[in-house]
Amino acid sequence: MTESVIIVGGGPVGATLALTLQHKGIAVTMLEARAKGSAYQDQRALALSYGSRAILEKLGVWQKLESQATAINTIHISQRGSFGRSLLKAQDHDLPALGYVLSYGALTQALDEALNAFDGVNVIYEAEATHIEPAPDAATVKFNHESRSQQLSSSLLVLADGGRSLGDIPGIARETKMYGHDALVTKVTCELPHNNVAYERFTPMGPVALLPNGKDFSLVWTGKEDEVAAVMALEDADFLSQLHQHFGDRVGRFLSVGKRLTFPLKLSYLNPVTAPHLVVIGNAAQTMHPVAGQGFNVGLRDAYELAHQIAQTSPEAWGQDAMMRAYQKGRKTDTKRGLMFTDFLVNLFSNDIVGVSSLRGMSLGLLDLLKPVKSRLVRKMSFGSRG
Ligand SMILES: Cc1cc2nc3c(=O)[nH]c(=O)nc-3n(C[C@H](O)[C@H](O)[C@H](O)COP(=O)(O)OP(=O)(O)OC[C@H]3O[C@@H](n4cnc5c(N)ncnc54)[C@H](O)[C@@H]3O)c2cc1C
Repeated sequence: MTESVIIVGGGPVGATLALTLQHKGIAVTMLEARAKGSAYQDQRALALSYGSRAILEKLGVWQKLESQATAINTIHISQRGSFGRSLLKAQDHDLPALGYVLSYGALTQALDEALNAFDGVNVIYEAEATHIEPAPDAATVKFNHESRSQQLSSSLLVLADGGRSLGDIPGIARETKMYGHDALVTKVTCELPHNNVAYERFTPMGPVALLPNGKDFSLVWTGKEDEVAAVMALEDADFLSQLHQHFGDRVGRFLSVGKRLTFPLKLSYLNPVTAPHLVVIGNAAQTMHPVAGQGFNVGLRDAYELAHQIAQTSPEAWGQDAMMRAYQKGRKTDTKRGLMFTDFLVNLFSNDIVGVSSLRGMSLGLLDLLKPVKSRLVRKMSFGSRG
């Protein structure tokens, strides 16, 4: 019998890996803690780069999703209290769009449906991994399924659980920097149409982003934990007027707000992302501040590149040192740049030292005039380190 790659976690990153491996004829067993379909209603708005669209297109998934995705044709970057602003436009960079906004639920459903079309994938739902053990010959996962504790081993086990469920893994260190900030995410409607413009506004409280999503906007409002908690506690009408005050007039008045959710912001990464016969990918390997919309896209590239690495390696050598080193080498620059760029933006725009603020305003104005710098920025945001 041919050996299966075992994937723990069937979120967008784990499912993309499973699907890419299926396209290459490689058998997969995927353990997913949730019940089948339970994530399909998740309205979390993911910002997909143009490069992520290209990956989903090669897998035949984008074609099913396109009608549910909202294109971002322009990104408007500004700073509260300053006139400097910069516009990034898809047409200036020969791209049909700078990115897309898509719900987590729609993406998960499309990936699941694409996986169903293959015989070589065995998805076990309601299977919760409890322990992972890398070892010289094979990695093992223990999991609970149908009220029984079970285990599976493979010469290649991939952890794509989003980083929230399992503790430390021997040989892998986790570096974490908590920003002490939370993100509040929700949907809002407003007076003016979005015209496919995404707004990123830097304020003393923290960055606030409005992403065009369907006819409405998805809002990501960040700030110190207590500040976000205070905004979270407001009645809808007060929330909308405070948002207007905070964001300014660019989209007119805010008219309604959906369910509000918050989550803590952190920068976190593993070093290394592999152990013998084990690879960690997606949010489980690195978590970033949402300011530059990089985290999810870096995770998708992890999945895609790992599938290529697996296909290029003979099964007898899966999970061995040479394969692990090659994968890490291929991903290091992209991940590091995503983490550094995101952290740089957070620090730059969180700095309230007198003078720095007007310098930032000037830099945004300057960025608007520097075409080569803008092109580089757009390429990096669209395609990662290969841009
Ligand atoms: C509350 C919250 C809100 C967010 N909002 C946004 C947003 O608005 N915009 C944005 O771009 N990004 C957002 N993000 C980040 C975004 O969700 C991630 O970048 C993206 O989901 C990463 O995909 P992933 O597949 O690596 O992990 P996940 O999407 O977390 O998927 C992990 C999968 O593994 C499964 N799993 C977990 N533990 C186990 C286990 N022990 N055994 C088996 N299966 C397991 C889970 O059920 C899940 O299906 C948010 C993150 C959180 C936590």
